[in-house]
Amino acid sequence: MRATPSWIEGLHRLKPVPLAMGHDLTFRTALAAGLGLVAAAGNLVGGYFVVRRDWPRKYLQYFLALGAGYMLAVAFVEVIPESVRLSGESALLFVLIGYFIVHLFEHTLAPHFHFGEETHLEEMSHQHARTSVLVGLTIHTFFDGVAIAAGFLVSTWLGAVMFFAVFLHKLPEGFTVASVVLASGQGKRNAILAAGLLGVATVAGVALATSLQGQLRYALPLSGGVTLYVAATDLLPEVNREPNWRMALLVFVGVVSLLIMQHLFHV
Ligand SMILES: [Zn+2]
Ligand SMILES: [Zn+2]
Repeated sequence: MRATPSWIEGLHRLKPVPLAMGHDLTFRTALAAGLGLVAAAGNLVGGYFVVRRDWPRKYLQYFLALGAGYMLAVAFVEVIPESVRLSGESALLFVLIGYFIVHLFEHTLAPHFHFGEETHLEEMSHQHARTSVLVGLTIHTFFDGVAIAAGFLVSTWLGAVMFFAVFLHKLPEGFTVASVVLASGQGKRNAILAAGLLGVATVAGVALATSLQGQLRYALPLSGGVTLYVAATDLLPEVNREPNWRMALLVFVGVVSLLIMQHLFHV
C-alpha cells in the first residue's frame, strides 16, 4: 500500500537530490576517497597472498562467508530502501539493471568464472577466458567504488556500511584475479598487476560517482544491485560448496553484524 499518490512522487523525482552542502559533504567526500584507497589496497594484498603461495586459504574463505551475509543485509535493509526513498519505486529497476550488469560480464560473456582460487588450468589456457574474467571483475570492482562513494554522498553511516561490504570481499577478489592469471600460465608480475588493475577500477568508481553527484539516484540503486549479485551469486555458492559448519555460521554472523551496527550507530 502506498500512501503517496504517484503524481506527488513524480514531482518528487523532478527535485534535485537533497545533499547536505559545505563542510559535511567535503568531509564525507574525503572519507570516500580515503576508504576507496583502503579497499583498493585490499585487492593488492589478496593478489600478494596468491603470489606468495603460503597464504592463509582458510581465513580468506571465512571472509567470503562473512561478506556474503553482511552484503546481503546491507543491500536489503540499507541500500535498496534508501534508493527508493531517493527516487521512488523506479529505483528498483536500477537495482535489477545493476544485478544483471555483473551477470552479463562475469557469467554470460565470460566462459568460466567463479570466486576463489582458480585451479582449472585447462579452462584458463584460452586467452579469451582470462581476458573475460579480467574485464568482468574490473567492471564489478568499478561498481564497488561507486557503492562506497554513493553511500558517503547519502550519509557517513551509509558510506561506512558500504565500505565494510566492499572491504570484506576485496581480499578474495584480489586472490581470485591473481590465481586466474597464474592458472593461465602468466607470471607473478602479471598476477599482481591484475590485482592492481582491480584496485585502480575501484578508485575510478569512487572518483566518477563523487564527481557525478547529481546521478546519485542511479548510482545508489545500481550499486545495490551489484552488491546483491556479488553476495548472492558470486559468494554464497562458494560458501555452500564448503562442507564446513563454520562457513555456514559466518554467513549469519555477517547478517547479524549489520543489524547490530544498525542498532548501535544508526541514529
Ligand atoms: Zn575454475
Ligand atoms: Zn567487489
